[in-house]
Amino acid sequence: MTGKRAIYPGSFDPITKGHLDIIKRALTMFEHVRIAVAHNPDKPSGLFTPTERCDMIRETVADLGDTVSVDAFHGLLVSYAQEVGAGTIVRGLRAVADFDYEFQMTLMNRHLADDVETVFLMADKSHFYTSSSLVKEVCAFGGDITPFVPALVAERLAAKFAKSGS
Ligand code: ADP
Repeated sequence: MTGKRAIYPGSFDPITKGHLDIIKRALTMFEHVRIAVAHNPDKPSGLFTPTERCDMIRETVADLGDTVSVDAFHGLLVSYAQEVGAGTIVRGLRAVADFDYEFQMTLMNRHLADDVETVFLMADKSHFYTSSSLVKEVCAFGGDITPFVPALVAERLAAKFAKSGS
């Protein structure tokens, strides 16, 4: 595998146990994994701000030590990967629904930067249907999401929805 540093990009709005599973698997293959929270300052979107997302990820991965770093970025992913010296992009695959989008993204990124490889990892089957968007939807209606997200994330989600009165 080329390069010992990988980048794991996504929206992480918020981090779930599915993401965490992918991070831990990536760490068995790479010396360092940089979790990169994608955002667009000109068009902010999502429930949590990029800073809130990064903070939740940092707290979640604190016990993994300095093999993991967390940062927000905007712009082209491959340019960011090159900038931080990551030769590999890690993505997680769930059900078939992820495949088409991931396929397009990977080929486009390869067109933009042939030296940055993309690898796909599968999380444990218990996370196969976990997504940040579903977790937010269920939490907004008062459902129990504790099996799917780290405890601190469940607390922040509850606080967010309590504040917004949803
Ligand atoms: P989401 O679709 O949940 O908003 P992100 O954009 O934050 O996800 O996802 C970042 C990466 O993590 C993507 O490659 C996505 O497919 C992957 N991922 C997200 N949730 C899971 C999961 N439960 N199992 C495996 N991969 C996942």
